[in-house]
Amino acid sequence: MLIIGSHVSFNSKDQLLGSLCEALSYGANTFMFYTGAPQNTIRSKIDDNITKEALQIMKDNNIDYSKVIVHAPYIINLANNKEDDKYDFSIRFLKEEVKRCEQLGIKWLVLHPGSHVGLGVEVGISNIINALNIILKDTSVTILLETMAGKGTEIGRNFAEVKQIIDGIENKNNIGVCIDTCHLNDGGYDISKFDDVLNEFDKIIGIDYIKCVHVNDSKNPLSSHKDRHENIGFGTVGFDNLLHVIYHPKLENIPKILETPWVEQNPPYRFEIQMIKDKKFDPELKNKVIC
Ligand code: FE
Ligand code: FE
Ligand code: ZN
Repeated sequence: MLIIGSHVSFNSKDQLLGSLCEALSYGANTFMFYTGAPQNTIRSKIDDNITKEALQIMKDNNIDYSKVIVHAPYIINLANNKEDDKYDFSIRFLKEEVKRCEQLGIKWLVLHPGSHVGLGVEVGISNIINALNIILKDTSVTILLETMAGKGTEIGRNFAEVKQIIDGIENKNNIGVCIDTCHLNDGGYDISKFDDVLNEFDKIIGIDYIKCVHVNDSKNPLSSHKDRHENIGFGTVGFDNLLHVIYHPKLENIPKILETPWVEQNPPYRFEIQMIKDKKFDPELKNKVIC
């Protein structure tokens, strides 16, 4: 079954109910959200009554809540321990984020592994492992390491780095991977040969670790290490190659999440999801989004 959705907002007032309604308005059957603004630490209290109400509506709409994703805030950097207080803050804040996921009943938390900011890949990776082993003690939440474009000093720029992190995790049941098609392209993995990419992933990490796919086109060519997302079919990856990923039999039942850019302050997701369901590229998509 195709499980497709997009990034949606989560506000302090409507919380999960607001996120769900936004997803439904896009024709999605899953979604991903940040539990607060990704660039700050202000988090409102989660209201269990709202969560309950949202869960009932999901049931009525055949939405499998066990496929819904939370994205960790990107101010967290587990790779950098240059300053103790910043490193400790990242660990503490991610631990709190895991607790919020538990309260919401969310199973999957996508995380950018981190940037080593000059410390070197090896030190960065050992910092990440150390932090994750603290965070993943006694939790029902699984952290999904996102494959990165390799911008700056980002770690997770190739499968070998992701594998190295996983190898250091004590509780393997609580670790997984989120592949991002824009990041793969920018990191040097050719999506037009996705079967080869998937085979390589399987050999190095193991395909069962993939629990989420971020579906984005890219504004930049293969191996550019830029990380600028483009709307589906409007970038260098292209519609057919993305469709191949979305409908790949080995990735069936794994949630596909769009993180494509808004078009002049309007979310494109309803149109992109329709295009994906129709399996037909619409070159007029951007005009439709702003109408
Ligand atoms: Fe991400
Ligand atoms: Fe992503
Ligand atoms: Zn990205």
